[in-house]
Amino acid sequence: MRVLITGGAGFLGSHLCDRFLGEGHSVIAMDNLITGNTRNIAHLAGNPNFLFIKHDVTNYIYISGALDAVLHFASPASPIDYLKFPIPTLKVGALGTHNALGLALGKGAKFLLASTSEIYGDPLEHPQKETYVGNVDTIGPRGVYDEAKRFAEALTMAYHRAHGLDTRIVRIFNTYGPRMRLDDGRVVPNFIGQALRGEPLTLYGDGKQTRSFQFYEDLIDGVYRLLMSDYHEPVNIGNPVEHTIREFANIVNEITGNPAGTVVVPEARIQGDPQTRQPDITRARAILGWEPRFELRDGLRQTIEYFKEVV
Ligand code: UDP
Repeated sequence: MRVLITGGAGFLGSHLCDRFLGEGHSVIAMDNLITGNTRNIAHLAGNPNFLFIKHDVTNYIYISGALDAVLHFASPASPIDYLKFPIPTLKVGALGTHNALGLALGKGAKFLLASTSEIYGDPLEHPQKETYVGNVDTIGPRGVYDEAKRFAEALTMAYHRAHGLDTRIVRIFNTYGPRMRLDDGRVVPNFIGQALRGEPLTLYGDGKQTRSFQFYEDLIDGVYRLLMSDYHEPVNIGNPVEHTIREFANIVNEITGNPAGTVVVPEARIQGDPQTRQPDITRARAILGWEPRFELRDGLRQTIEYFKEVV
């Protein structure tokens, strides 16, 4: 296959490039580099099956030659990033998705949308099944991301239904691993950076909110399987093992041997920060034969080794 990966220089996009190249496919990575970084794909320079194009997909996308699949992963994805880039976040979810869908239609290619557990908002159903319609504040600070992705899902299903486009939607739950930006503001790089510097880990609020963390390799495998399937409804890909943020901080301190403990920073908590989040992965198990393989502590150890080199 010849595939286009938008956001290809980002955390997940760059790992996807590696996976597709490893499977013998040819990859074009496209990124405007507002949150992605060419460091993530530097090891691919000179690979004859790889091409990087610096481009903002909110503008018309031109690709010469055939394409078999378009994977739309371009978007700021951390709360700090989308608060800093609210309008680009809305534009890449809306205009960027429109351009990427139009490209896939023109090329007769499959289309896969990177959606998110954020479309469930601060969920009133727990764990979250794909059938749950969500609880999102349209005008809250997180609305710029949540609504962009909700619109992107709606547009993707419209292209499927109206044009018969061969589409997929993956709802990605909290994912971590090497190539996350140390300063992206998310809890995993924040805590690991703080622990490696011997600082207390910052709990936003009381630390009782929960998240369920998956290692990037599990996510990449789920995305690959979904693309190879013929399933058009959204599929949750995430690790159902749920922790409070306080428990998670204790695990990071234990693995890194950080004696500095935790500090409570209530004012840092963003309005609308979901109180709970845990994927129901029944659908992924049934349709893709997928389930996560990496234990949190094992994935964290690999991630910590990566961050040791960049701290
Ligand atoms: N969080 C925290 N301390 C930090 C960074 C984040 O307690 O230094 C909390 C944040 O308030 C949220 C959770 O950790 O409840 C996960 O935040 P993240 O930014 O990783 O992503 P989210 O799941 O909210 O999109």
